[in-house]
Amino acid sequence: MTRAARCPVCRKPADPQYRPFCSRRCADVDLARWLRADYVVPGRDGEAPVDRDIATDFPDDLSTDFPDGPHRH
Ligand SMILES: [Zn+2]
Repeated sequence: MTRAARCPVCRKPADPQYRPFCSRRCADVDLARWLRADYVVPGRDGEAPVDRDIATDFPDDLSTDFPDGPHRH
């Protein structure tokens, strides 16, 4: 087959030496992504408070301006 393998990181033609990547750098990038994804999932809970603070502040501000007040009661 003549299907050229492409680097999944930058989509350049893969180098047989670093298959399926085009270079060692891209192989490292892919590995780093995997490690990071694995690392971020359990750590995300610790970062949640920042998002929660905004989320709890938003609906409270909207309820006073929205015709949703009577409906809530
Ligand atoms: Zn690449």
